[in-house]
Amino acid sequence: MPTTTRTVHNFYAGPATMPLPALERAKEELLDFAGTGMSVMEISHRSKPYIALQEEAEALVRELLAVPAGYKVLFLQGGASLQFSMVPMNLLNGKRGDYVVTGDWGAKALKEAKKAGSTGVLASTEATNHDRIPQAIEIKQDAAYVHLTSNETISGTQFHAFPDTGAVPLVADMSSDIMWRPTDVSRFGLIYAGAQKNLGPSGVTLVIAREDLVEAAPESLPSMLSYKVHAKNDSMYNTPPTFGVYMLRNVLAWMKDQGGLKAIEARNREKGDALYAVIDRHPDFYTGHARTDSRSYMNVTFRLPDEAREKAFLKGADERGFIGLAGHRSVGGCRASIYNACAVESAKALAAYMEEFAAKG
Ligand SMILES: *Cc1c(COP(=O)(O)O)cnc(C)c1O
Repeated sequence: MPTTTRTVHNFYAGPATMPLPALERAKEELLDFAGTGMSVMEISHRSKPYIALQEEAEALVRELLAVPAGYKVLFLQGGASLQFSMVPMNLLNGKRGDYVVTGDWGAKALKEAKKAGSTGVLASTEATNHDRIPQAIEIKQDAAYVHLTSNETISGTQFHAFPDTGAVPLVADMSSDIMWRPTDVSRFGLIYAGAQKNLGPSGVTLVIAREDLVEAAPESLPSMLSYKVHAKNDSMYNTPPTFGVYMLRNVLAWMKDQGGLKAIEARNREKGDALYAVIDRHPDFYTGHARTDSRSYMNVTFRLPDEAREKAFLKGADERGFIGLAGHRSVGGCRASIYNACAVESAKALAAYMEEFAAKG
């Protein structure tokens, strides 16, 4: 039973809110992990209890996402940002990486890929300030892979259907919406996600990759940058981020307790729909950044009529315990991040405040 209740509604974009039961469990187990008499932070990553923990985390990833056979699940470090480099370094093999750029994260991924080899841009939404997901994306069959960002955390747009890339592996940065709903992993060659938005604390990066792509890593790569080396060593080529993997396990176990990703999706839709309904009821007051068809169920981005009211809105929010609602420093405005762990009641409380604030005019 939780011994603590939340005193704030946390809408930070990342690191972000975590499920209270996952934190409570950590509190209970902090000084004595799995009957060892030690903290999980104090035990060898080669010890049986730790290996069992990492295997459990992997099994939960596989179960929750129904990962098909023929895929590796890796726990790496360096954040999603290191994946911007590792993806091209491992997968290009002299070919071209094609990018769909729908926001700042996609642009950063492309920037790093350019340093590693040949790239192409299949679509970019920069001209419309990343307010949408491009409709028809034409796939070129000679590419090594197609890379996209499933959810753009800063602008608040999200792919609701993925392009069919045929024989070309689809690579997705799912940092800010991984496991927000059931996902057909077989459509992807590789998925990566920094944990700190939807899965746990910063410091762990989840990579799910088709085995043939893992095997294709050039031998010349530095070991720490090679998927093949990490896979061969069960993500223990070097010391893994043991406490991060532990927290990830707690969060995944919580998701399973909730009823799995179908139940998580229902919660997420309830939260997003509540907030977008307020925006749509007051079109002269709230302006959503994303076009309706491209709206994110993870990051709800909006502006108020002017900066003075934005400031007043954020100040009032702060007084009510709504934390982290200022938009990203590069775009301004407001952003409510409502990841998996964000409670439905938090989103509903925010919706009520937005309604009340709009009524004041
Ligand atoms: C936060 C974020 C990143 C960066 O993650 P780091 O772990 O800080 O490297 C990359 N892509 C997306 C979509 C993000 O939301």
